[in-house]
Amino acid sequence: MQILTGKAVSPGIAIAEAVVLDAEELRIPRRMVTKDEIPDEITELDHAFATSIEEIATQRADVKLQLGHDVADVFNWHIGVLKDPMLRKDIVSLMEERNYSAAYAVSTVMRGLQRRFMQMKDPLLAERMRDVQDIERRLLRNVLGKSAEDISHLSQEAILVTHDLTTSQTARLSSTKIIGVALDVGGATSHTAILLRSWGKPAVLGLKNLSSHVSGGDTVIVDGLNHMVVADPDEATLEDYRSKRASFVKLIDALDELRDLPAVTTEGVRIELLGNIEYPAEAAASMEKGADGIGLYRTEFLFLGDEDPDEEEQFEAYCKTIAGANGNQVTVRTFDLGADKITQNKHFEPERNPMLGNRSIRYSLQHLEMFKVQLRAILRAARTGNVRVMFPLLTTLMELRQAKMTLFDAMEDLEETGVRFGRDLDIGMMMETPAAASQCREFVREVKFVSIGTNDLIQYLLATDRGNERVSRYYTASHPAVLRTIRDVIRTCAKAGVDCSLCGEMAGEPIYAMLLIGLGLRKLSMAPNNIPEIKKLIRACSLKKAERVAKRALTFETDAQVTNYLRAETKKLLPDDPI
Ligand code: PEP
Ligand code: MG
Repeated sequence: MQILTGKAVSPGIAIAEAVVLDAEELRIPRRMVTKDEIPDEITELDHAFATSIEEIATQRADVKLQLGHDVADVFNWHIGVLKDPMLRKDIVSLMEERNYSAAYAVSTVMRGLQRRFMQMKDPLLAERMRDVQDIERRLLRNVLGKSAEDISHLSQEAILVTHDLTTSQTARLSSTKIIGVALDVGGATSHTAILLRSWGKPAVLGLKNLSSHVSGGDTVIVDGLNHMVVADPDEATLEDYRSKRASFVKLIDALDELRDLPAVTTEGVRIELLGNIEYPAEAAASMEKGADGIGLYRTEFLFLGDEDPDEEEQFEAYCKTIAGANGNQVTVRTFDLGADKITQNKHFEPERNPMLGNRSIRYSLQHLEMFKVQLRAILRAARTGNVRVMFPLLTTLMELRQAKMTLFDAMEDLEETGVRFGRDLDIGMMMETPAAASQCREFVREVKFVSIGTNDLIQYLLATDRGNERVSRYYTASHPAVLRTIRDVIRTCAKAGVDCSLCGEMAGEPIYAMLLIGLGLRKLSMAPNNIPEIKKLIRACSLKKAERVAKRALTFETDAQVTNYLRAETKKLLPDDPI
């Protein structure tokens, strides 16, 4: 039996056999195949070679068109390596002589090649090591493409254990029999974590090297209540977890009864609970969970497919979301591409520090045509419901002004071409950079509403990558600097009469609910699955108490004191719930 701790993204307990997936980060376990399987494996390998060469040739043609001959020549080297008959021969020899699977043989040969380049004295040649890594990744992706899809054909429930999941792999989970996820990497507010939270089943991230210890078929327990995974549990532990799982299921079923009741404090103060969604279909699902509307629609997830969405596809997606919200307000956030969302895999030269790079509103303002297409689609869809538009990750007033100008340009375009659209939509912004928070007074003069994005605000205030499990102990909403920044933004908005909500993951964490209400927030937007528990908490709490708790929380000097205090106060309100 082995117990590992990580970071749970959604509560609950899942028990099943493991499926171990060799995914993007490509730590390939030593895997052998039988003699009979080798011809099929070689066919897979040849297919992967052909697909990889085709992909590179397409990229080369695109780049040549955009940037000219010299840059495109880099790809010739990649194609040259893949076409070298010695490379295929070395891989096939390992498969035939040692029964290695295609993936394991590719990985072994390519790692050897990387080592050879690494040892070269000439720095230019040593640099080629990264190209070899690139080629390895591509080949492996194409070899593993089929096995990656295998999870969609599972015949029984299973726990997915893997090094990492891309956002598109995570997005596919809901159509599989996976009932729990355990990942080696990832922080609690990474975008994979956010998608896992929407998926709603138990998941624990940041488990370091779990995937190299677990083999397919091992029994695994994902304990999303205690941030743990137990591999190969003994009989007593299994029994204990079965009964814990049963109690948790009862608790969740009881929450369903709150669905149609409003989120009001004991004095009757109404708190709006809104859903954060990534896909149009989640709008209706949020309403099912008792949401009062959609506080954050992350539109950039439209880019997860192979083709970028055109105006019509976007228009349809926005209309579907609005219809799903059933007359309630929908806050559409413009594309927040970049960082860990989408652009890095499309870049030929990924950024060295993407979280501080060309992401979000910066990316949109550098791709004005794409941005305008989105704004046109939002404006057209706005006719069909109650819509607001929100710009992400602003750091300067100029960005806000440029974004608004682009929106007005899009309106003019539509007007000139006689296309009808919703003109009166409110324009707002995410408050998620320290720069914007510190210039809040100036920003609120130019927007109708603000939504505090604590996922990013925390990472930039505390200089801690939200997706990196190695620094996850530094990443906390309880840091006094975070609390004070949130308090100041809420106060500034209140003074200016600007609507203020909070849509970071913090909004769905029970221990912060009293604090946020006590600081003055009346709108919280969260993963729809968190709504019932937060509603239960609000209905058990008085505003007076929440204000006292907020005041006291702001007096502490360390995040540990804040967390301990908030947890203890929350536990007093809901003693039987896993807090
Ligand atoms: C945030 O940063 O808090 C937020 C809600 O946006 P995202 O998680 O999509 O960056
Ligand atoms: Mg953000």
